[in-house]
Amino acid sequence: MSAPNSAPPRSSFRVGGMLVGYYVLCPRKAWLSMRGLWMEQESTTVALGRQIDENSYEREQKEIMLTAEAPNGTPLIGKVDWARLDAGVLHETKKSPSAEEAHKWQLRFYLWLLALNEVTGPQGEPFAGELNYPKQRRTEDVRLTNAHTERLQEIVQSLQALSRQKSPPPRREERSFCQKCAFEELCYG
Ligand code: SF4
Repeated sequence: MSAPNSAPPRSSFRVGGMLVGYYVLCPRKAWLSMRGLWMEQESTTVALGRQIDENSYEREQKEIMLTAEAPNGTPLIGKVDWARLDAGVLHETKKSPSAEEAHKWQLRFYLWLLALNEVTGPQGEPFAGELNYPKQRRTEDVRLTNAHTERLQEIVQSLQALSRQKSPPPRREERSFCQKCAFEELCYG
């Protein structure tokens, strides 16, 4: 695998949920993803935002696409695994909780997109999130607090700065962490 070296074009810069999760895990992974695997990020855009009204709630809806604009103007995009709109819950299903912290931030990011679009649950309450790990028969509740929102804004700003950076951040110290990362060969090969 050769090192990707071209920055994403400025006009295409946007932040998705997976990228946020990557950044939380390892800023280098986020940098490499923006350079080499940018097109593998969420690629379809269908704004949900204000288009949802309470009458359109269905029991379940697969793969909801969200878009919003961060307070600093950065385009944001998210592809939610599935949702129970009638209950005001977004779901994200994962194979393993090995990167649970990243999964939580990914889901918080989607909750933030809804909040930015002023989309609430059927009773006017903020949407909640639920992480599902079916193999482990585990679920984790995820909420969006003001502190999380502030952190997400910081992450978006950091990603913007990272996208302009010509060289990648250092790799993580603990190689054991990198065993499941697609970039392991690139970082340690
Ligand atoms: S292999 Fe490790 S250091 Fe390299 S991008 Fe992945 S997590 Fe980061």
